[in-house]
Amino acid sequence: MPTTAEPSLTAPDCVFCGIVAGEVPATVVASDERALAFRDIEPKAPLHVLVVPRDHHADVAQLAAADPELLAAMVGLAEQVASDESGGQFRLVFNTGPTAGQSVFHVHGHVIGGTGLGWSPA
Ligand code: 5GP
Repeated sequence: MPTTAEPSLTAPDCVFCGIVAGEVPATVVASDERALAFRDIEPKAPLHVLVVPRDHHADVAQLAAADPELLAAMVGLAEQVASDESGGQFRLVFNTGPTAGQSVFHVHGHVIGGTGLGWSPA
């Protein structure tokens, strides 16, 4: 799936900016003008897709402050992926900060589903 629209914010050495630019390979499953959805390289569930904005923002709190409409667009894309792949049911996780498990500092929502999910984050 082509990654057409040009982001207005990018960060050097950011792997997800590289995926948005088409410079780093990824399995893209959905996209629109402002966001992209691609399969996690180490899936933790039958459905494990990452939704990212084309623009670079470090985490969901910064994105919500800077561009809440873009956050809403990401949620819409997550819903579209879940509708296509897991009957419309999904968990959407934004790890925010290293202690919470964030390892890539370009905001991304983990769209997880396709199986019954427990509830034990620790
Ligand atoms: P975090 O730990 O920041 O919440 O999630 C980062 C996610 O990005 C991890 O689940 C990891 O497997 C995934 N990831 C890291 N590098 C790549 C990559 O180059 N390609 C893809 N598709 N996923 C990646």
